[in-house]
Amino acid sequence: MTTLGSNKDTMKLENRRQVLGLIRQGPRSRAGLAKETGLSQAAIGNMVASLAEEGILQEIQKAPEETLPGRRPILLDLVPRWKTGVGISIDREGFEVGLLDLRGSVLGDTILLPYQAHPQTALDAISQGVRSLLERHALPPEKVLGVGVIAPGPVDSQRGKLLNPPRFDPWHGLALKEELSRRLEMPVYVEHNASAMARAELELGSPYRSFALLLINDGIGLGLALEGKIFTGSHGLGCELGHTSIDFQGRPCSCGNRGCLELYASTGAILYDARRVRPELSTWESLVDAAWNGDAFCDGMLELQAEYLAASVTNLNNLLELEAILLAGTAAYRGELLLEKLQRQTEQRLLSKNTRSLSFQLSRSKDHPSVRAAGAVALHQLFHGELFPF
Ligand SMILES: [Zn+2]
Repeated sequence: MTTLGSNKDTMKLENRRQVLGLIRQGPRSRAGLAKETGLSQAAIGNMVASLAEEGILQEIQKAPEETLPGRRPILLDLVPRWKTGVGISIDREGFEVGLLDLRGSVLGDTILLPYQAHPQTALDAISQGVRSLLERHALPPEKVLGVGVIAPGPVDSQRGKLLNPPRFDPWHGLALKEELSRRLEMPVYVEHNASAMARAELELGSPYRSFALLLINDGIGLGLALEGKIFTGSHGLGCELGHTSIDFQGRPCSCGNRGCLELYASTGAILYDARRVRPELSTWESLVDAAWNGDAFCDGMLELQAEYLAASVTNLNNLLELEAILLAGTAAYRGELLLEKLQRQTEQRLLSKNTRSLSFQLSRSKDHPSVRAAGAVALHQLFHGELFPF
């Protein structure tokens, strides 16, 4: 890792980051990079030569069908396996560990571990999972760029600590960054899970610049993108839509508030309420499958979930005027069903119905979305943060 010594070094690093960031969006020619960055062709030529020598960039040729006859311009692309990002997802439902290449694709399989209430034992198992994946892919520690960890909020991402996520008591106050850096001897970055998923959405080329990603599992997390930037609050704690109230005299919540959205509309809460009438509904998927096949009671439970969510989504959109609501997490299973209900119920409540159009979509991240979002927290540090491995 390099230490920045002078303004000149800082500028050189920023230029390299800008060039790598552009190539990350898609292969570029040298001339194209000069035009987009405003740097001279000579400066781009030198930088590209040294990045290629370090193994970060490679030259590729456009496929013949993409070019004019006789012209096969040389483009520059990232070497996806130059370094690896480790992604770790920590949640009430369990833990998932995986590896990402530089483009953000998951390498092979991930490792799923059951939830453990004892954090030290869980972190030992998670670290062992990371080591065994690296071994499986024959990757020595120097090939690892960093480790991204995502967890339910509130998370102090600056200090790398979990704070006090409700119903996650044994993990309260855990210094995740410190604990995992000690075990793995790698740089570790911690982020609020829904914020990381919203960032992954932006980096996957989302057509929306201002959107709310609802991460609905046993809890309800919110990842907020405003004008192309992830908003995590003034202290980086993340946004807690799940703990905004939909009933000020409602069910008491361990966060201190009353009538919190996630006590009514999380998949855990809806399933709990459904099972009081139909105890045979053992999983969220079984409830959704039944609704999908026309079961009126189960369909009604999803309608109720949509009604609770619509109250919060309406508040959110009246405050922020967003372009889209994206659905992720357990509730995204056959999520079209819930989204259609949520859209209908929200549209009935929205102010200025005729002047606003809000899109309702499933999250684009399909392949191990939690691990991808977690690993992307580490990759993000290369393109925009504090990692300087070149
Ligand atoms: Zn609460």
